[in-house]
Amino acid sequence: MSVGVAILGSTGSIGCSTLQVLARQRERFRVVALTAYSNADLLERQAAEWRPAYVGLVNGGKRGSGPGARGSGAGCLIEAATHPDVRVVVNGIVGAAGLEATLAALRAGKRVALANKETLVMAGELVTRAAREGGGEIVPVDSEHSAVLQCVAGRGPAELARLILTASGGPFRTWPRERIAAATVAEALRHPTWKMGKKITVDSATLVNKALEVIEAHFLFGLGYEAVEVVVHPQSVVHAFVEFVDGSVLAQVGFPTMELPILYALTHPDRVPDAGTRRFDPVAAGSLTFEAVDAELYPAYRLGRTAATAGGTAPTVFNAANEIAVALFLEGAIPFGRIASTIARVLDATGPTGADTLDAVLAADAAARRLAREAACS
Ligand code: NAD
Ligand code: MG
Repeated sequence: MSVGVAILGSTGSIGCSTLQVLARQRERFRVVALTAYSNADLLERQAAEWRPAYVGLVNGGKRGSGPGARGSGAGCLIEAATHPDVRVVVNGIVGAAGLEATLAALRAGKRVALANKETLVMAGELVTRAAREGGGEIVPVDSEHSAVLQCVAGRGPAELARLILTASGGPFRTWPRERIAAATVAEALRHPTWKMGKKITVDSATLVNKALEVIEAHFLFGLGYEAVEVVVHPQSVVHAFVEFVDGSVLAQVGFPTMELPILYALTHPDRVPDAGTRRFDPVAAGSLTFEAVDAELYPAYRLGRTAATAGGTAPTVFNAANEIAVALFLEGAIPFGRIASTIARVLDATGPTGADTLDAVLAADAAARRLAREAACS
């Protein structure tokens, strides 16, 4: 019997890569539910090909004439994520909108293959608790965290000493500092090694993405922040290093593609044959280089680490302020350099509180969004 999969955000970069993986794994998996925000045309094409039992369009009404039940509004994410025939929910939604579906899926005992890192940052305590209480399981899709998971397979938490996540450094790594603050949207969207959605591409340019990933790693693997390090590695071939207590280090390597971590999130802890991705070739990979993170080049990265160690709702606030600042930057309303300063002002103006209830998290998120809009445009 094949495993039922729901894909939240099926029209996005992660969603489309997931369908590409599933097209090669039809005997193991079937698509039970698909959801998207507003791209009705692509969603309908996907539904016609995969004939899922459930199709949800958040913004656009119950359109579509194909087979399967239809849902709309934010509630369709929960319906898809908790559908009785679904065993694995691939959460490829961008931003805070993915939180409630992840919580619902974990409470219903499902595996969540999580690309939507923002929600683990926003509500790490709640998400990990929902998994514990509901019997669900969070398996990372993010390539660095998939790398860590693959390296730690079979080892207990007491054997883990340190993680080193790699970062490409984004498009501005070699730019003169004074130019970066005025970088255009087109320049920020020119990522050197990965092709992804716009929000995460901007997050890679500010290195906010790596700060989010440090917090993600803390909640996934239970390590203190002092044991989660980052190194800049422009070739994006080594995805993470894991150091064990005896000093031995394992790394996971491969040419950059999200299809491998997506497949592993579906099959973990097993591996299945798959011929879809380019096989690794060390000679073609060429020289691999590593450099320390330049804190001056990436001010928002340091803000994220500080929020992480502050704990409570500080990561919630960091994430919310960043989401607003990035959206304003992408609209052309603020310059690139204003992203970090907006986050800084919002964090300065907010005292962190406990993050152990959904109400507290949602209140901190909403307040930070309001403050960020004011701070960005004043
Ligand atoms: P994307 O913008 O390409 O796709 C986002 C998807 O989310 C779309 O299908 C869209 O319909 C849906 N969506 C957007 N807003 C929504 C809302 N309010 N409610 C419901 N659905 C909504 O983004 P992406 O690059 O695929 O990234 C998705 C997530 O995966 C992000 O959290 C990102 O950080 C993470 N991620 C992406 C990559 C990558 O290679 N693209 C790698 C690692 C992690
Ligand atoms: Mg990543």
